[in-house]
Amino acid sequence: MERHTTIISPEQITRQREYCTQVHDMNATLATAPLAYVDTYGCQQNEADSERIRGYLSEMGYEFTQDEHQAAVIVINTCAVREHAELRVLGNVGALTHTKRENPNQIICLCGCMMQEPHMAEKIKKSFRHVDLVFGPHALWRFPEFLWRIQTRRGRIFETADDPGSIAEGIPVERQGAIKAWVSIMYGCNNFCSYCIVPYVRGRERSRNPQDILAEVEELARAGYREITLLGQNVNSYGKDLGLGMDFADLLRAIDRVEGNFLVRFMTSHPKDAGDKLFDAMRDCAKVAPVIHLPFQAGNDRVLKAMNRGYTREGYLSKIRALRARIPHIVLTSDVIVGFPGETTEEFEDTLAVLREVEFDALFTFIYSPREGTPAAAMADVLTKEEKQANFQRLLDLQNEISLKKQQAYVGRTLRCLVDGEGEDERNNLTARTPGGRLVHFTGDKGLIGSDTDLNITSCSTWALFGEPV
Ligand code: SAM
Ligand code: SF4
Repeated sequence: MERHTTIISPEQITRQREYCTQVHDMNATLATAPLAYVDTYGCQQNEADSERIRGYLSEMGYEFTQDEHQAAVIVINTCAVREHAELRVLGNVGALTHTKRENPNQIICLCGCMMQEPHMAEKIKKSFRHVDLVFGPHALWRFPEFLWRIQTRRGRIFETADDPGSIAEGIPVERQGAIKAWVSIMYGCNNFCSYCIVPYVRGRERSRNPQDILAEVEELARAGYREITLLGQNVNSYGKDLGLGMDFADLLRAIDRVEGNFLVRFMTSHPKDAGDKLFDAMRDCAKVAPVIHLPFQAGNDRVLKAMNRGYTREGYLSKIRALRARIPHIVLTSDVIVGFPGETTEEFEDTLAVLREVEFDALFTFIYSPREGTPAAAMADVLTKEEKQANFQRLLDLQNEISLKKQQAYVGRTLRCLVDGEGEDERNNLTARTPGGRLVHFTGDKGLIGSDTDLNITSCSTWALFGEPV
């Protein structure tokens, strides 16, 4: 297949890094390094994008702060998936008028998916005049140029043109932590689920070249990272646009061959594209964690069709069976939407039935949020807000019951876990993750952080396990 994705050339990235040097030289004349505050909303892809924004900022000579009052530059990386996240962003951006009043030279930047929505960019232009720079995910690679232009000419910049998307290699990355790393393997989405804004704001599916991904994984393994999460809106579509005859399962096998002591996770898998080839690779690859996030969204076939998900309930369940036949101890998580337009309570019962049949280890649950410009936003509701809320509560109650039962099955077992950070209280001062991704609290020496430790699981709650070193 011929590839239509725009590839940002190495020269274009070099030019951006020259802008970094120019801003750096300006910052070097200040008595102390200026501070930048980066706030991220939404999914892991946004976290990964923010690591690139921090990489650029670091190259420009900024240090980082958690206090927006101290910041010379504020970057808010936004999420458009649900209205709730958008309202939080607007509230927090509104509050920045105060920090800007204290420090009129402060530069306020908004980026991410919300900025790629035309009505939202318009709203910021008109009603949030303290915001200096707005750019969508497509223009992230040009961030140094924008910051340079604002610093030298002032004025406001809006870079939110619609774009099918590009791929830019070579942007510096400032990773959060030295144990876990994100690696984007592809960008965008072609699925157009009828409720979802992502394809409109993140462009068409495009895969990074396998050699670039493998080089990044090798570098992370050499640097001692212990957990690598491969990111994409639909990782199972990986490679379709490359025409190299390599798909996601092949990529997993290639990554599994990279030398080093690390575990690979990935998200998100779309059920319509996940199949035996992927499940075989998961079973065969020692470095691939025994866990999969496989969102089913709804359990009723009419609703699934209206959502444009491309699978039926039985199709989904048969894939779960195929996976469990290969990896009986697989940890399964999923996403569910309650209150999709037109969904009746009777149809919602089918969602509960899927929960009872599969018994997911954990579930991410959402009440449907209309997104302007998506087909579902024009569909009529049959349930009231209160009825949707009542269904949502039933879903939570059932999942909590299942989650607790699943957690209890771990009590008394000894598991090799990756110690990944400090806990919140003195008694359980460390946290660790099981290979399947369960959170474990325990007491131990901080020196254990970053290592594998055998933990005896002594008790649990719905959300976490508690253990002690063996
Ligand atoms: N690409 C992934 C997939 O297809 O599973 C997930 C991307 S989306 C950012 C994460 C989850 O948000 C979805 O699985 C869905 O459950 C939820 N979501 C997306 N649009 C939504 C909407 N309009 N209202 C409520 N939940 C939504
Ligand atoms: Fe949204 Fe569907 Fe694409 Fe996931 S697969 S990002 S839910 S359109």
